[in-house]
Amino acid sequence: MNFETPITIALSKGRIFEQTLPLLAHAGIEPLDDPETSRKLIMDTNHPHVKLVIIRATDVPTYVQWGAADLGVAGKDVLLEHGGEGLYEPLDLQIARCRLMVAGAAGASLEGNRLRIATKYVESARRFFAARGQQVEIIKLYGSMELAPLVGLSDLIVDLVESGNTLKANGLVPLEHIADISSRMVVNKASWKMKHGTVMQLLDALQEAIGKAA
Ligand code: ATP
Ligand code: MG
Repeated sequence: MNFETPITIALSKGRIFEQTLPLLAHAGIEPLDDPETSRKLIMDTNHPHVKLVIIRATDVPTYVQWGAADLGVAGKDVLLEHGGEGLYEPLDLQIARCRLMVAGAAGASLEGNRLRIATKYVESARRFFAARGQQVEIIKLYGSMELAPLVGLSDLIVDLVESGNTLKANGLVPLEHIADISSRMVVNKASWKMKHGTVMQLLDALQEAIGKAA
């Protein structure tokens, strides 16, 4: 592949980086460093015009929205919270798949007003309960949501569930499905126009890689 226009792609460390890597490799893009061992936040690739920026998962839509990165890989969970302003979301990479769910103690009720919901996913939780006609109290947390019901901080949690093992280990169960989650390629709206040829080339190569993985 030949990238005549410089592009920057925002990625987060961990599962998104690991699972995006083979897709990028299919597009002929290989990072020159490993983000797990390197402290570099801007990584060069085998293409002189393609750079990767390594940031927190929740910051990816922000970097792309403001054009600090042309493209980025973000979980749908993160995009639902961000709102998608300034972004296109042209491609489901079908990686980092899990479900956004309401969870709690076995048999815990989802009914009633004034339920306390602990979550990192404030917007998604509010929307989900509002659609059921319920006013709930949302308690914003940044991690380890499973603890909240155990210590009486909340009645329920809204969190990502993959196998359910983390819930189970803490005596909780999934109670209600909110959304299927996977990672999406997002594109800055100005880059979409100004760098259209290069962006489309990359998206086509990624689409092909996804087809092969499926
Ligand atoms: P940090 O750990 O730095 O606070 P984070 O928890 O957002 O950030 P990850 O755990 O790597 O970082 O999650 C990144 C994305 O991967 C999430 O936004 C979500 O889309 C997806 N994800 C999170 N947990 C799971 C899971 N258990 N299974 C599959 N995908 C997941
Ligand atoms: Mg995490």
